[in-house]
Amino acid sequence: MAKLGNPRNTIEILQKYDFHFQKKYGQNFLIDEHVLDKIIRAAGVTEHDFVLEIGPGIGTMTQYLAEAAREVAAVEIDRNLIPILQETLRDYPNVSVIHDDILKVDIAGLAREKNEGRPIKVVANLPYYITTPIIMGLFEKGVPIDNITVMVQKEVAQRMQAGPGSKDYGALSLTVQYYAEAYVAAYVPPNCFIPRPKVGSAVIRLTRHRKPPVFCSDPKLLFGLIRASFNQRRKTLQNGLINASDLSFTKEQIIKAIESLGVNASVRGEELTLSQFAELAGALAEQRGRTTDGI
Ligand code: SAM
Repeated sequence: MAKLGNPRNTIEILQKYDFHFQKKYGQNFLIDEHVLDKIIRAAGVTEHDFVLEIGPGIGTMTQYLAEAAREVAAVEIDRNLIPILQETLRDYPNVSVIHDDILKVDIAGLAREKNEGRPIKVVANLPYYITTPIIMGLFEKGVPIDNITVMVQKEVAQRMQAGPGSKDYGALSLTVQYYAEAYVAAYVPPNCFIPRPKVGSAVIRLTRHRKPPVFCSDPKLLFGLIRASFNQRRKTLQNGLINASDLSFTKEQIIKAIESLGVNASVRGEELTLSQFAELAGALAEQRGRTTDGI
């Protein structure tokens, strides 16, 4: 089967099957061999790896993955692509195509079945409309992950990498950085895809931390605080947390916990580091403990 990184081969197969792109599925297929090589290299795929590919499209990147990895499972939602994938991947017995919505797949189960529960690599040119739920799902649902190397919208990659004080810094930056180390491997212009997306793209690798970089006894509270602080970006941290409907701390508890960080009372959430958020969560958890103990 001809390699699909070559735009001519891609166009030929699209015409053969009279394929119509579906906007609702975020379909922009890669047609640049250089970018495809870069993604595989950034992911560090070796012949020992089991790789999960999300949204194989017509199988362009899947061909590259199949040549580099031990085994690949590719999950595609669009039923019109399944017969195409059967043709474009017929020379690769180490690939299985799963026709499903990735948000409904038991990925931890797949890792158990295909990789004996050992950490897997995830590689994808993601459908941009569900980038965040896919990545957060992988981190939060107990899937054993080595790294996730994905094409995302350029602005999303910048937000994932941003630190305090930057305009891109927010809940996504902190949540991603709690779970992984982010590295942007390439910026990719619209002309590397068919059809061309309206936005610039970037390949980002998220290497999962073996242990979170900060200690927090209650990660759920940590993420709740992060969300509440950035929900109302222009408010001070103190007001953001006091007004948050899903946090159940008194004004006094919040003021005391912020004071314990040694920061100004008018500090905004966007000025705090991950480790200060963890400290804040620790201080509030301790106060909650005192209240429930009746101290
Ligand atoms: N990997 C191909 C490439 O690089 O040329 C296609 C990438 S395209 C940006 C995204 C792919 O994800 C499409 O094939 C689309 O049909 C598929 N997709 C969209 N939503 C999905 C979902 N919820 N589950 C699985 N696949 C999905």
